[in-house]
Amino acid sequence: GHPVYRNMPTTIFEKMSARARETGAINLGQGFPDAQGPEEILRAATDALLTRSNQYPPMAGLAELREAVAAHYARHQGLDLSPQEVIVTSGATEAIAASLLALVRPGDEVLVLAPLYDAYLPLIERAGGVARVLRLTPPEWRIGRQALAAAVTPKTRFLLMNNPVNPTGIALREEELALLAEFCVENDLIAICDEVWEHIAYDGIAHRPLIGFPGMRNRTVKIGSAGKIFSVTGWKVGWMCAAPPLATLLARAHQFITFTTPPHLQWAVAEGLAKPERWFDAMRAAYQASRDRLVAGLRGAGYVVNSSAATWFVTVDLPASGIDMDDVAFCERIIDEAGVAAIPISAFYPAEPVTHLVRLCFSKADEILDEAVARLAAFR
Ligand code: GLN
Repeated sequence: GHPVYRNMPTTIFEKMSARARETGAINLGQGFPDAQGPEEILRAATDALLTRSNQYPPMAGLAELREAVAAHYARHQGLDLSPQEVIVTSGATEAIAASLLALVRPGDEVLVLAPLYDAYLPLIERAGGVARVLRLTPPEWRIGRQALAAAVTPKTRFLLMNNPVNPTGIALREEELALLAEFCVENDLIAICDEVWEHIAYDGIAHRPLIGFPGMRNRTVKIGSAGKIFSVTGWKVGWMCAAPPLATLLARAHQFITFTTPPHLQWAVAEGLAKPERWFDAMRAAYQASRDRLVAGLRGAGYVVNSSAATWFVTVDLPASGIDMDDVAFCERIIDEAGVAAIPISAFYPAEPVTHLVRLCFSKADEILDEAVARLAAFR
């Protein structure tokens, strides 16, 4: 094919979901809930659709949603963002693309931590940047000072990172975040923080945004996703938050990518973000119960599972489970023979992949999780 597309294969999530649709497999691959989403939020969207404007909202987002995002982060994360520092996007993927297209100049290096979300590298490359990949090591995936220092060069201008981390389900520790903040300040880097899993954290873990660390307020783009927070991944409503000089540039890129995002969905998300703390606690508790159900089921079937502190994912350790296949081979076998779709962790690496872990999504109904466990137990 054309050399431009050498590094732009069809995303693994679409590939596995398409195969799950074709074969009728239970889809624990791509991360999305199987439920409809919270009734009140859906109703807010339908009401807005029928009673309010369906024409172009302002390019940077409806004032109601920009205010709601700023207020939400003040309440939940102690941040002092103003509504002008919030730009609404059509999903977090657009926010990542807009950030890179707005800020990266040809030849700029962008430091990323592997495993990494599969959209990052193609977007960095198409923005004219050069990715420098810092490979983290299982099972701890710790970020170390020396490894960071070794990865940086005079051309490095950005750190693009994800916290909590897809696919490992790790929430970065306080000291790692402090280290990353220091590192960005010392090397004069802009941090692009994909924090779409900020609300999906378990066991009482509170999210710590990098933008809240010393020296980071004016050098961070914080990216969020309503699809994750409200279990409506198809809505594609996200946002990027940054201090005014950065936000101005981000808006310039955004205006020529999607320009704007459907207004009824923006109103509904604005309403949702104002829900009381207990609403978010209940949402998390439900997912935590699903996580625990899948983990217990798989362990009962003899699989060794790394549970997660956050996200909708857990990983199965193949060799520790006594399975003599790499992740891609295992995913191929179970989709055909067990009728369960999963994601190989190697899809989160450009090179030298970790190949012994498989990601399973647990944001599904109990009976679906139980059936998937039964099928995976029979496969052994
Ligand atoms: N974030 C989702 C996942 O990790 C995928 C989203 C997508 O396919 N665009 O499964």
